[in-house]
Amino acid sequence: MSDPLLELDDVYKSYGEEQVLSGVSFEMDAGDVDVVIGPSGSGKSTMLRCVNRLTEINGGAIYLNGECVTDADTDVNELRKQVGMVFQDFNLFAHLTALGNVTLGLRKVRGIDKAAAQEQGYEHLEQVGLLDQADSYPAELSGGQKQRVGIARALAMDPKLLLFDEPTSALDPELVGEVVEVMRDLAAEGITMLVVSHEMGFARSAASDIIFLDDGEIVEHGPPEQLFENPQAARTGEFLSRLE
Ligand code: ADP
Ligand code: MG
Repeated sequence: MSDPLLELDDVYKSYGEEQVLSGVSFEMDAGDVDVVIGPSGSGKSTMLRCVNRLTEINGGAIYLNGECVTDADTDVNELRKQVGMVFQDFNLFAHLTALGNVTLGLRKVRGIDKAAAQEQGYEHLEQVGLLDQADSYPAELSGGQKQRVGIARALAMDPKLLLFDEPTSALDPELVGEVVEVMRDLAAEGITMLVVSHEMGFARSAASDIIFLDDGEIVEHGPPEQLFENPQAARTGEFLSRLE
């Protein structure tokens, strides 16, 4: 059997005295779309940040394609070429156009020349339906468009895994749909995605598995039908009923 694409093995993380992740373990295969749900403060963002080493774990290990990425000697820049991240608040550079934001990593991290980077940049803007906004600056874009640029920027690095941290929760409700639609397309294309989101429509239709994290522990992990129709843990049912 081949290695899973991503494996978290008994991951612990604390900030000072505060235990934030307490023995988190799960695996994802290539092409999986796992959606992480859970109350505010339960450790969802921290878990994602551990995967691309934006923060360091205190115990356990994380593997990408069978390779431990939480070793001290792992090349973090190499890791981040393979693991893209889409942030809640977009994190775009205000002084760069949409195209500039998408091509920056190609040029600076991958060392691709300007013309080739732009060609790829246009392709990824097209993939998120924003070819016509290539020359717009973030201030000229709606929140939904900004987030689609954020997704195009992550895609441009051709990552093995895309992390999404509440990608639609900073958006006005009428702008959520266009971002979810792009994410649905990516899921259908077989891109491996680990998504923190409370967009239950997306979770129901696109997720391979749902992971319910509460107080730093995985309370329940299973296919959407299980969590939504027949939750095995009382806490899962309670959490989901409060969302609806
Ligand atoms: P979630 O994304 O599920 O809302 P977080 O992972 O952001 O949860 O936070 C989990 C806990 O870790 C919270 O209690 C939060 O205050 C704490 N925390 C997160 N980041 C930091 C940090 N950089 N320093 C100290 N505590 C943090
Ligand atoms: Mg969070």
